[in-house]
Amino acid sequence: ALRPLLAGNWKMNGTASALATLDAIAEGITRLPDVFDTLLCTPATLVHRAASAAKASRIQIGGQDCHTGQAGAHTGDVSADMLADCGAHFVIVGHSERRADHAETDGLVCRKAQAAIASGLTAIICIGETGGEKAEGKTLAVVERQLLKSVPDSATAQNVVIAYEPVWAIGTGLTPTVEDVASVHRFIRDHLAARFGAEGAGMRLLYGGSVKGANAHELMAIDHVDGALVGGASLKADDFLAIARAF
Ligand code: 13P
Repeated sequence: ALRPLLAGNWKMNGTASALATLDAIAEGITRLPDVFDTLLCTPATLVHRAASAAKASRIQIGGQDCHTGQAGAHTGDVSADMLADCGAHFVIVGHSERRADHAETDGLVCRKAQAAIASGLTAIICIGETGGEKAEGKTLAVVERQLLKSVPDSATAQNVVIAYEPVWAIGTGLTPTVEDVASVHRFIRDHLAARFGAEGAGMRLLYGGSVKGANAHELMAIDHVDGALVGGASLKADDFLAIARAF
């Protein structure tokens, strides 16, 4: 099995006081077996301080988005180079909230992933169907299209992680059945292995959407689930550590 990755996505939450949460998570993680990687994707404004605070711990820091370019006249945007310069090792690209709030397309997400890779970051590429698409039986077709168009040819097991996040499961308390997660993750693995060979077989596949302490064990036991991308339950140390104990 691949070494799992437990990733938190703080979304647009956290000012300086949130660094205490990071410290508490780091402290709790030291008490657990060193059999998984831990990542916190903070707001861009916290990446530098979080990376400094996490330096001596098992926690790595990531961003939540990057521009397709590394510098230039793009007011308000943040580049992958800038995140790397601040101490980030990962960046999320193509989260469904960005696809929805900023009309990000599969092609744009692919170029963001390429920028992340060029800066030495690991891109966590998010995919997943909406509730409407699921109801129409289109889950695998949507996932396949997103994989084809959002994952760049330069992807390797080191520089890309795939996060399957059904949009309808995010922040709702709803999760797919174990059978549904298993079949989607199996489909993603087969697709990546066919396209990238051994590299595709080695890419970590995260599940995201209402992961919490109570369901983490069941979800993380599924074949080809190599970790979790956690939103709400990453904002409190106790909640996040309850998930970590399932790893
Ligand atoms: P929740 O864990 O709050 O459902 O969010 C999942 C998510 O979007 C992580 O990127």
